[in-house]
Amino acid sequence: MSVSDHVDFERFIEGVHKRNPGQPEFVQAVSEVAEDVFDYIRDKVEYHEYQILRRIAEPDRVVSFRVCWEDDNRNIRVQRGWRVQNNNAIGPYKGGLRFHPSVTESVLKFLAFEQTFKNSLTGLPMGGAKGGSNFNPQGKSDHEVMRFCQSFMTELYRHVGADIDVPAGDIGVGPREIGYMFGQYKRITNQFTGVLTGKALEFGGSLIRLEATGYGTVYFLQNMLARADDSVEGKTCVVSGSGNVALHAVEKLLDLGATTVTLSDSGGFVHDPDGIDAEKLAWVKQLKAERRGRIAEYVERFPRAEFHADRGPWAVPCDVALPCATQNEIDGDDARRLVANGCIAVAEGANMPTDLDGVHVFKDAKILFAPGKAANAGGVAVSGLEMSQNSARVSWNEAELQQHLVEIMHGIHERCVEHGAVPGEPGRIDYVRGANIAGFVKVADAMLAFGVV
Ligand code: NDP
Repeated sequence: MSVSDHVDFERFIEGVHKRNPGQPEFVQAVSEVAEDVFDYIRDKVEYHEYQILRRIAEPDRVVSFRVCWEDDNRNIRVQRGWRVQNNNAIGPYKGGLRFHPSVTESVLKFLAFEQTFKNSLTGLPMGGAKGGSNFNPQGKSDHEVMRFCQSFMTELYRHVGADIDVPAGDIGVGPREIGYMFGQYKRITNQFTGVLTGKALEFGGSLIRLEATGYGTVYFLQNMLARADDSVEGKTCVVSGSGNVALHAVEKLLDLGATTVTLSDSGGFVHDPDGIDAEKLAWVKQLKAERRGRIAEYVERFPRAEFHADRGPWAVPCDVALPCATQNEIDGDDARRLVANGCIAVAEGANMPTDLDGVHVFKDAKILFAPGKAANAGGVAVSGLEMSQNSARVSWNEAELQQHLVEIMHGIHERCVEHGAVPGEPGRIDYVRGANIAGFVKVADAMLAFGVV
């Protein structure tokens, strides 16, 4: 960036700060993208004239609403729900719903902003959105979760629709919650449409949607390593989280001959030096899905493993790290530790798990670093395919969908390579820059075509 570009950049970020007080996650996400996009659009007058970046960094709308529900003891509980519709320049709004006590408007705005670029990167026609609530499904009975989901949808239904905005799952929203919300939408509107993705197969879901984010993250890793004449086979991997993304990433790593030695949840992490094999993975899946248990229980079942409370797994030596839990779980110190211990590649299964300091550490160390908007796009890509199947009233088979997922992740990797070349360093790719620019260009060009709207 030249000095005058830098001044423009600083002024832009200052404006984002001013317009979004108390929203650090959103400002962080915009800053990361703006760093790269400012450089790219330096000599592209139209993008400046039409204020494209400024417009993408202002959500089309933010809907916030009250969600009342009754718990099993007849207490009335009041939660807040949101839907952030960031941008629909290239297709209907699309993005998950998150139910977690840490959900705020800032978190959802950052996720909707990121989703806009991610969805563009997939090559499919989907705009960017995100939503959710500060409701915590942990420790709630099925009936409580059902009443909450029904109440949530009773408001959300006004803002979504198969050609308007198609939510999906995210943290705290899995097949059970999607089922309750789809049932309520159908009941209120008397329509059976593809208004949500991540549905069960019996009512319009797609095969491999559940696996797609974790598998896709590993496919992206595979593409990065292959380009560097390396492979996933034989690698020691550190994975965080023990939810949908983490467990399917571990499954695919196992398939490809790698060894995963950690898993975590918000209570801490387990380190299993022998590796998490198929049998152990099946046990964790059951623990999480059927018993909604805690990862600490792993060491009772597999005593050679150790549990470390209240910490992430980043000090465990590894070749590859896959953060698959939540935002900002890797800070600068964690990143330095990973690099010092010999980590050669990081692929983000979660959204923005690495903070800005950590991103700069990985970039400076020149290790392979895949940002979430590229690496974890497999989930929304298969959601896009679920929408196509719903519209055409067909169901594709597993082999077809697996092939689509492999090709889509390869396509995303190629787009990142196309836009991520590092000047003066032949062969080196900055995947963060590549993803930001490739995601931006398609949305920006569509916005230019529409004029000022
Ligand atoms: P799940 O709810 O299935 O699992 C989330 C996991 O992360 C759980 O193990 C949870 O532990 C842990 N976790 C959540 N918050 C924290 C925290 N503050 N500190 C430590 N651990 C935490 O969610 P997913 O696997 O679906 O999502 C994980 C990440 O992947 C999120 O960033 C999500 O946005 C992203 N993602 C998900 C996609 C999908 O298809 N599901 C698509 C693209 C991205 P605990 O149970 O203790 O809360």
